[in-house]
Amino acid sequence: MTACSSVLDLIGNTPLVELRNLDAGPCRLFAKLESQNPGGSVKDRIGLSMIEAAERDGRLKPGGTLIEATAGNTGLGLALVAALKGYRLILVIPDKMSLDKIQHLKALGVEVRLTRSDVGKGHPEYYQDIAERLEREIPGAFWVDQFSNPANPEAHYRGTGPEILEQMDGDVDAIFCGVGSGGTITGIGRFMKENSPKTEMIVADPEGSIVAEAANTGNISTEVGSWLIEGIGEDFIPPNCDLAVISRGITVSDADSFAALGDLITKEGILGGSSTGTLLAAALRYCREQKEPKRVVTLVCDTGNKYLSKAFNRAWLVDQGLIRRRRHGDLRDMII
Ligand code: PMP
Repeated sequence: MTACSSVLDLIGNTPLVELRNLDAGPCRLFAKLESQNPGGSVKDRIGLSMIEAAERDGRLKPGGTLIEATAGNTGLGLALVAALKGYRLILVIPDKMSLDKIQHLKALGVEVRLTRSDVGKGHPEYYQDIAERLEREIPGAFWVDQFSNPANPEAHYRGTGPEILEQMDGDVDAIFCGVGSGGTITGIGRFMKENSPKTEMIVADPEGSIVAEAANTGNISTEVGSWLIEGIGEDFIPPNCDLAVISRGITVSDADSFAALGDLITKEGILGGSSTGTLLAAALRYCREQKEPKRVVTLVCDTGNKYLSKAFNRAWLVDQGLIRRRRHGDLRDMII
């Protein structure tokens, strides 16, 4: 491999690896390592595509200001691209977010506006509403809005989808995604509908989220629970989530998600983030139910580095009631 001219050239074209040490029944299960994007997640792709689309359509001028309401991976993806392209980025972040994530964003030059986590839509301090207001107040500012920005699914329609089909030699029966904004599943799904109609798009959804039920029955539930998995699961169907491309939804508990994540690092050497565990648990359940051998792809959406003190910390898992303490005083269940 020759030298790249910028870290931005390292976004996308992520590797695909077969998971041979997990029990996938009669199927072959492959993982696409989105964790190997330079910012550590699948969201680098949309950081780049949403900024470049805004440049193309003139909504973003050289030295301009970007605004988004997120502390998650989208914030990091945008921050990486904004830093390299010389844009100012303001992120509105609810104050429950971990200090590590905020420090990471600040290190990339982001202006962080903290706001209250305990208020909902319509409240003046609700983080999405602040982003909308900042766009109006700051001349030339552009509110990225990943939930409805068409350049979000477009990144997966042009990048992730074609990459998967090529890496699978044109033969893929099912692909597992989560839904945060819906961009990943919608973009890959639209590409597969046109280029590999047999491929089923399956949403893996945390227990308490409404997406799997909406995909299976069309019913948009108003009963929303809570879950510990980060980055996926919703209490509404975002405009960027096209239910028409999803063939079914599988609901996964937090406990099953974290257990699958543990197996992924110990048996395959892959350190995934928490949503990776949800997708993997659903994919393995699907694979073991099959009578015929199928070729299945799941995503490693981000790296587990930022979840070390949670998903990979037995004491935290015990505190959350997700695993049982081994025995009182067992040092392996201590924080360090
Ligand atoms: N996994 C993680 C860790 C994420 O941060 C996200 C995005 N919130 C997703 C999965 C889901 O991606 P999308 O927004 O494209 O639905």
